[in-house]
Amino acid sequence: MVDYVCGQCGRRIAQYEGRWDDPRLGLTDLRPEQLEDIVTHSAQDFTLVRVRCEACLPMPWGEPLWYN
Ligand SMILES: [Zn+2]
Repeated sequence: MVDYVCGQCGRRIAQYEGRWDDPRLGLTDLRPEQLEDIVTHSAQDFTLVRVRCEACLPMPWGEPLWYN
C-alpha cells in the first residue's frame, strides 16, 4: 500500500492499494536521491510518500515537477 502524505502539513492526500513501484505512479522514474527524499518504506508492503497537498503546493497539480 502506498500512502501519500503532505510533507508540509501532514495531511493524508491519497492512498494507493498497490505497490510503490507500480509504473503508473511514476515513482520509479525519480532519481535515487529524490526517491530517498520523498519515499519511506515504513513496513513491508507499506510505503509512505511525502508530497505537497493542494494547500501547500506552490504550483498546480499536473505539473511534471509536482513532487518537488
Ligand atoms: Zn499540506
